[in-house]
Amino acid sequence: MVSLADASRGVRRIELSRPDITEEDISAVVRVLRSGHLVQGPEVARLERVFAQLVGSRHAVAVSNGTASLHLALIALGIGPGDEVIVPAFSYIATANVVERVGARCVFVDVEPGIFNVGPEGVEAAITPRSRAIVPVHEFGLACDIARIAEIGRRRGIPVIEDAACALGALRGRRHVGSVGEVGSFSLHPRKAVTSGEGGMLTTDDDALATQFRILRNHGIDERREFVAAGLNCRMTDFQAALVHGQLTRLDAILDRRAELASVYRHELGAAGWLELPKVPEGCRHSWQTFHALLSDTIDRDGVIQALAERGIGANYGAQCIPAQPYFRDRYRLDSESLFANAYGAWRHGLALPLHSAMSRQDVVQVATQLTEVVGTFL
Ligand SMILES: *Cc1c(COP(=O)(O)O)cnc(C)c1O
Repeated sequence: MVSLADASRGVRRIELSRPDITEEDISAVVRVLRSGHLVQGPEVARLERVFAQLVGSRHAVAVSNGTASLHLALIALGIGPGDEVIVPAFSYIATANVVERVGARCVFVDVEPGIFNVGPEGVEAAITPRSRAIVPVHEFGLACDIARIAEIGRRRGIPVIEDAACALGALRGRRHVGSVGEVGSFSLHPRKAVTSGEGGMLTTDDDALATQFRILRNHGIDERREFVAAGLNCRMTDFQAALVHGQLTRLDAILDRRAELASVYRHELGAAGWLELPKVPEGCRHSWQTFHALLSDTIDRDGVIQALAERGIGANYGAQCIPAQPYFRDRYRLDSESLFANAYGAWRHGLALPLHSAMSRQDVVQVATQLTEVVGTFL
């Protein structure tokens, strides 16, 4: 929708994010609706096969969302009261909420500057005799140093659950995220590059874990139709699976488009002294779920977001410093600003800019121009 104010300025609304859905994808959904088989049927089974192949894991298990997938991973690994789970201090809040939900304790690790991911040294330093899982996040679609983190996990006997919620398509070397640790966890929420509306996916090479995921997502029913666990209902519908399938066949094109737009941002904003652009370590294919840059700390970030919104541009902050959120602050009483300075800074000064495959290069130039103008009024 172009509002009158936008039209008078000649500015098109540019959303932060927008799903890449074609008429064919819509027809695929409608075909499932007409088929009468709505939940966890042939479309889910096909999606799981395609997803496992894409990630390079033996198994993929579809679930209802990316939070459910993290939750089921912790339950299947038997994590509960008395256990510690290592999580980044900077992520979407779900990464830590699920740890609380199973009754375990979060051990927060600060992220590395400009990368927004935890590094192997930080993870290893956080290990204690109570550590039962490591949950590194591939934040914004950039793979963390997962090979070294998984190696630490194996050496110390601690399973690694990769929170790859926003990183479908992200590579480190030739490895796809979600295929290196014991478990990979993906989200298919509309804010990610590929979406089923709500949806999630678990990946693993471990046959026993995959079986547990299948049992736990479906009320605890096993293959002999016996109730062998106190399961949940985390099933995906068949029409959601049909919606994703077409997007997966276009994944390379979707990711190439996002990478192209990210490079335009880099070109347009590279010289801005008030903005620190995201770093991409050598050998990584970033999936650019979010183009997340840091404003200098003298600029009113929330004011910038507000001013961009008034100009029809959907910017936002990137993710939370989790131990600084009220629930975690009250429960853990950690001085986030000093203990997790990078996470705290990224939460306070991070800026996510519009990036989705319906945008043109000109749209990116437009966002960069408007941002530069807006920031000028705050300097
Ligand atoms: C989006 C996201 C989640 C949650 O996924 P949902 O599908 O929204 O439940 C978890 N972790 C991270 C890092 C995310 O970005």
